[in-house]
Amino acid sequence: MRVDAKQQYIMALDQGTTSSRCILFDREGSVVSMAQKEFRQIYPKAGWVEHDPMEIWSSQIAVAIEAMTKVGLEAKSVAALGITNQRETAIVWDKNTGVPVYNAICWQCHRTADRIEALKQEGYDETIRRKTGLVPDAYFSATKIAWILDHVAGARARAEAGELLFGTVDTWLIWNLTKGRIFVTDYTNASRTMLFNIHERRWDDELLEKFCIPRAMLAQVKPSSCVYGRTDAAVFGGEIAIAGAAGDQQAALFGQCCFEEGDIKNTYGTGCFLLMNTGERAILSKNGLITTIAASDSEEPVYALEGSVFVAGAAIQWLRDEMRMVRSSAQSEEYAKTVADTNGVYVVPAFTGLGAPFWNQYCRGTVVGITRGCSKEHFIRATLESLAYQTYSVIRAMEADTGIVIEQLRVDGGASANDFLMQFQADILKAEALRPDCVETTALGAAYLAGLAAGYWRDKAEIRAHWQVSKRFMPQMDEERRRSCLRGWDKAVKCALLWQEEEQA
Ligand code: ADP
Repeated sequence: MRVDAKQQYIMALDQGTTSSRCILFDREGSVVSMAQKEFRQIYPKAGWVEHDPMEIWSSQIAVAIEAMTKVGLEAKSVAALGITNQRETAIVWDKNTGVPVYNAICWQCHRTADRIEALKQEGYDETIRRKTGLVPDAYFSATKIAWILDHVAGARARAEAGELLFGTVDTWLIWNLTKGRIFVTDYTNASRTMLFNIHERRWDDELLEKFCIPRAMLAQVKPSSCVYGRTDAAVFGGEIAIAGAAGDQQAALFGQCCFEEGDIKNTYGTGCFLLMNTGERAILSKNGLITTIAASDSEEPVYALEGSVFVAGAAIQWLRDEMRMVRSSAQSEEYAKTVADTNGVYVVPAFTGLGAPFWNQYCRGTVVGITRGCSKEHFIRATLESLAYQTYSVIRAMEADTGIVIEQLRVDGGASANDFLMQFQADILKAEALRPDCVETTALGAAYLAGLAAGYWRDKAEIRAHWQVSKRFMPQMDEERRRSCLRGWDKAVKCALLWQEEEQA
């Protein structure tokens, strides 16, 4: 296919944890071209995860050129590009040569868990929470940067001499796209470093001192939708405006057109990521959720509450790969629909503990309510339902924190293709679940942010008009049954938590 070269398009660079992708969108927000390339995951030790920053860069550029070439597009037909990226991953490089001093330490990497534990021991976690909105964790960039400075020979001295730069992946890509001319990040990415004060919206001197990170290493922080600069002409054979950047989950929230306070989306992937727009209120959660900055097209801050479910689609993979009950993830739907209920069975897939709002890292997967009549179909159905129950638990925590009653949930991600699951989700939440036409919401969000800054789209109203529902799931379950299902889930979670208590005793 060739696109009309007289038209203009928006390019989204979607730099994920396992692959780099590029999607080109037209004015209607439809995908006109896409390319994707996986890159190496480096595991130097158990619990350590790294990426080669040069591979992040080269795979990202390769897919951008591939997506353009597939449809015969030249740089001059790209109105702007937007970036969305894996969050928190830390890269430190030499300001003069552009050479990284160490691999990118991936967000998943737990090498700094001890440092976080020590911070908690000294009671510093409350300060971090208050300033950054984050529950201190090795996920976030701060302790990763400190680790690089402490473990790479000479790195600290060079950083103090102003020779090294730190960036999250957005910053690294923009710096390279502009051949080192532009050193920026956006609010959403900055808010995941654990060094950024989300209320004052600036790097926090006290935290920088605490983590011993020289301020000169840090990028200028800008809104998610703004023209940061232009790509060096050599990269794409012509300059392209770089006009948007946001962390992946915030981009997805924007791509789902969750522009108003109370709007909420859930991405059903390996885990589930829920984000709720809380408008100008930065709400400090009492239920273990994270407060973060949302992407917005204005200077005014927009905040979000975030909660995640560790094991969601991964439980379906477990049914496929370990239990060998289904041949494909999609087949789980066929089996679940053959039975009217789970026959009283509940599966709590707490394989690595439970996240918000339970926060227990020791409990383990539990199956309860089994009778002689429990069939494989019931078991599969109960596993699928666990995705909806876990989502329900996070949403109830969000409601408790915000006082907002959720009436609608926008869904995306691989497992959102499962109609049975989406219907059950609507039933259990007593709220409608909306699945959009375009489920590429992360890339779409980055495209929207860039297109708005570049004047490609006029305003959010124009974008909202593109957002089409592909399927709407309305709650249908009668209230008595819903309550009884939820009572069972609560008991099942208690059993999972009790198992851990017994173990500790
Ligand atoms: P990620 O970006 O986390 O890799 P994806 O959004 O690609 O995840 O979704 C993949 C996950 O969704 C897998 O864990 C898979 O088991 C699950 N999944 C995909 N399709 C279905 C389906 N039809 N029903 C249930 N789960 C599904």
